[in-house]
Amino acid sequence: MSALLDVRGLRKSFGTTEILRGIDFSVAARELVFIIGPSGSGKSTMLRCCNRLEEPTAGQVVVDGVDLMAPGTDINAMRRQIGMVFQAFNLYPHMTALGNVTLALRKVLGKSRDEAEAIGLAALDRVGLKEKAPSYPSELSGGQQQRVAIARALALEPKIMLFDEPTSALDPELVGAVLGVMRDLKAAGMTMVVVSHEMRFARDAADRIVFMAEGEILEQGTPAEIFGNPQHPRTRDFVGELS
Ligand code: ADP
Ligand code: MG
Repeated sequence: MSALLDVRGLRKSFGTTEILRGIDFSVAARELVFIIGPSGSGKSTMLRCCNRLEEPTAGQVVVDGVDLMAPGTDINAMRRQIGMVFQAFNLYPHMTALGNVTLALRKVLGKSRDEAEAIGLAALDRVGLKEKAPSYPSELSGGQQQRVAIARALALEPKIMLFDEPTSALDPELVGAVLGVMRDLKAAGMTMVVVSHEMRFARDAADRIVFMAEGEILEQGTPAEIFGNPQHPRTRDFVGELS
């Protein structure tokens, strides 16, 4: 099984504080890996190192065979293959949903307006929001805005999607539709790494769960293993608190 994402010996320090203390993990094509762990354990930093939004202090990140840290690597080209969805959707308020989704297609990939709009509408369709193409972010719910942000990433045809607490900013009644989109992506074969506290979704949808604490992976396994029979006391405490 060849890994689509391979992280080896990843370390990250801010000043003299080591935040990631040697992370090793890999994600196979079509796999949905969930990352859980207490606040401050380095989950976001780890995800951000996976597209070099954060510069690792040491270690290797390889995406589909390309070493992101190698001197010759075109990091901007690689970033387009690594879709990233954050807690804050960061849509441009003065642009429509379609405008937000097509911006990079036009400005970065140099697609024509017609081509960009066709791709953008297809991406909005995948998140169930084709009819909201002309709407501005202020006219959309938080959940709809997050789905537009997912469509914006999908429009670039990423090989892998990284989600950092994609539903944490949403009112509870809006969470389900965003998780539904993620479920559809998984069914369509997308490879995904998800940092989230949605434990029911993790239980139902994840292939594997990685438990992080204090900059290290303490344990990983299937949802049944992590929720049903956690081995590490820290995992047991964390999972126990949540259920
Ligand atoms: P998590 O996502 O698991 O809550 P983070 O990766 O956001 O954890 O943060 C891990 C630790 O790194 C925290 O102690 C945080 O304060 C620290 N940290 C994150 N980003 C920076 C930064 N840019 N500069 C200094 N410290 C940071
Ligand atoms: Mg975080």
